[in-house]
Amino acid sequence: MRIDLHTHSVASDGTQAPADVLRAARAAGLQVVALTDHDTTSGWQDAAEVVPETGVALVRGMELSCSHRGISIHLLSYLHDPEHPGLVAEIERARESRATRARRIVERLQERFPELTYDEVLAQAGDGATIGRPHIADALVALGACRDRGEVFRDYLYDASPYYVPHYAPDPVAAVRLVRAAGGVPVMAHPFAAARGRVVDDAVIEEMAQAGLAGLEVDHRDHDERQRAHAAALARGLRLAQTGSSDYHGDGKLNRLGERTTSPDVLARIEDEASGVPVLRP
Ligand code: AMP
Ligand code: FE
Ligand code: FE
Ligand code: ZN
Repeated sequence: MRIDLHTHSVASDGTQAPADVLRAARAAGLQVVALTDHDTTSGWQDAAEVVPETGVALVRGMELSCSHRGISIHLLSYLHDPEHPGLVAEIERARESRATRARRIVERLQERFPELTYDEVLAQAGDGATIGRPHIADALVALGACRDRGEVFRDYLYDASPYYVPHYAPDPVAAVRLVRAAGGVPVMAHPFAAARGRVVDDAVIEEMAQAGLAGLEVDHRDHDERQRAHAAALARGLRLAQTGSSDYHGDGKLNRLGERTTSPDVLARIEDEASGVPVLRP
């Protein structure tokens, strides 16, 4: 059984509709896929509708943006109640802050690209999508100013860039508790992907583990062999599950569906611990 527990659609910064992510998952030979858009569950319905047609089981999830002393942390939440008031309030706050922050980044970039507008950024995003830097990158590509997302991140949108502006994001320990309170199962995404920006010390992950963290995403293309080994050792020491996933974004990134996978026993553990919504099986 091939299981990929981390993908994005146009509900955030992926490039395919949620249903098309499931269709692509079938074409990639996957039996189970999790849809984990940034700070939203708005893609769940569209994906759920094609579970029978594709024969791909759907793990409904989300990737929650968190921040620890200015260091960005991504927390995957699986199978939580999408209407839990505390969790809904937190992602709404993050999404509103993301929109404000994207306007500020655009203002900064306008010094170099006067033709860039916030409307052009919105035109790159799906209806009601969580706005992120990739949509700003897409706007620059649409204007012909840059070649692709990768080039924009490399030259203008990396974390330490003068054009970068942060957005509100909850503390990761509080976020772990909130996901559990919503019946979800929290797994820390790409914990040691240093190429993306600064990463947290093991001590922060230990605190998250004490608060109820269920696992670490050990196998991810942004980990080199040393980082992968470190994540695996930490997971063993803290008795956390180990997942592997693609972090697929359609054409927005090189990541291919199923390039990393999660074992069936880890999926069973996640399913056992969840009480928000079930896995949808064909
Ligand atoms: P944000 O959530 O707005 O801070 O933007 C971060 C998102 O940008 C991540 O979720 C990644 O999907 C995406 N991203 C980061 N680096 C790159 C890159 N080099 N190429 C394409 N997408 C990227
Ligand atoms: Fe993303
Ligand atoms: Fe992430
Ligand atoms: Zn992701």
